[in-house]
Amino acid sequence: MSGWHDIDVLVVGLGPAGASAAAAAAAAGARVLAVDRNARPGLPVQCAEFVPMLLGAEVRQAAAASVQPIDRMATHVAGEAADLEPDFTGRMIDRARFDAALVDEAKAAGAEIRFGTPLRTLDADGIARLGDGTAVRARVIVGADGPRSVVGRAIGRVNRQIVETRQITADLRIAHRGTDIFLDREIVGGYGWLFPKGGVCNIGVGVAATEKHRLKPLLARLHARLVEEGRVGETVHGHTGGAIPVGGMVGPTGRIGPVPVLLAGDAAGLTNPVTGAGINAAVNSGRLAGEAAAAIWAGERGAAPDYGDEIEALFGRSLALARRRRGQLMAAWRRADGPTPAELRDGWIAYPQYWADAAPPRQGARMTA
Ligand SMILES: Cc1cc2nc3c(=O)[nH]c(=O)nc-3n(C[C@H](O)[C@H](O)[C@H](O)COP(=O)(O)OP(=O)(O)OC[C@H]3O[C@@H](n4cnc5c(N)ncnc54)[C@H](O)[C@@H]3O)c2cc1C
Repeated sequence: MSGWHDIDVLVVGLGPAGASAAAAAAAAGARVLAVDRNARPGLPVQCAEFVPMLLGAEVRQAAAASVQPIDRMATHVAGEAADLEPDFTGRMIDRARFDAALVDEAKAAGAEIRFGTPLRTLDADGIARLGDGTAVRARVIVGADGPRSVVGRAIGRVNRQIVETRQITADLRIAHRGTDIFLDREIVGGYGWLFPKGGVCNIGVGVAATEKHRLKPLLARLHARLVEEGRVGETVHGHTGGAIPVGGMVGPTGRIGPVPVLLAGDAAGLTNPVTGAGINAAVNSGRLAGEAAAAIWAGERGAAPDYGDEIEALFGRSLALARRRRGQLMAAWRRADGPTPAELRDGWIAYPQYWADAAPPRQGARMTA
């Protein structure tokens, strides 16, 4: 495809944020074009696939893609016996199915969807150049193109702090309904995880980007430990990984030439800097961005700043707390001996000290953290 395309709203990226934005903008009556560089929705999966229970209540696709419930979290600190947090509810989802269902909703709402179509560049006058040769003139652009957003970069909003991850899928020998978190001073700027998913599980490690070279041995060590404990199988069924923005919000609005731009999801830095969780924020910010984009197209002058205010009101407090805790932990990692077990606990959401001196969380905020 090539040539000119005039459209009301261009959505770049069709992950949970972009699909939700496209659905909301199209449902509000705007002509929407939504593009993704990947060939198919939801693939490759780059996710540990845990979502808070609240998301399942609000978004039917999360409940529909559910694989198993989660009702507790076990935190393993520096090889000590696990601390149990019994009040931690959520579900493991099939992320590919979830993303595909959100895209179906966008299609059903009337959005034009193009996979295998990257955004290559944004000209200074706001014209978007796509990989298929199309030049798109949009009234509003929504950037939902993930942690290394091209749209974000074009308006000077860049995720500067990144955690890099590596994850494998293995058989689960002992079925359970809890997430396991592994905190260790060796896992610099991140943590390890074991998330059960029916008969299999996701085992992963995330570290500060400067430590990326250590991901492979750290994950091999965690996997070997779990095999030895008889919890998981030795065979690795699949690998994945990806970047997680951990610097907090980058500012969700801007402009390229005359064209207003709204960022959503990872592109806006809405992933929690401590847990790395971002699906809930992606869906909710995406919906709001789609509604705001349609309102801007309809001539509502205050819709862009209102969107910024809504994002701040929804996510500002929990992101600021997580950013602060992450900063404290990173300072401990800059010491030669790294963080103590007590400091590792202070920086993790399962412990009351994480929430100390924070404003009381809104209902569900701990789970969406
Ligand atoms: C290993 C790992 C484990 C995780 N585990 C969890 C978890 O258990 N729970 C949780 O809540 N969060 C988790 N996250 C974070 C979560 O995956 C993200 O926060 C979420 O996917 C953000 O959604 P999004 O739509 O903003 O971005 P994405 O899902 O990244 O979607 C962005 C889309 O934009 C497309 N794109 C990028 N550039 C372009 C371009 N130039 N042109 C066109 N398209 C483009 C991409 O192909 C992609 O489809 C994890 C992340 C990783 C890496």
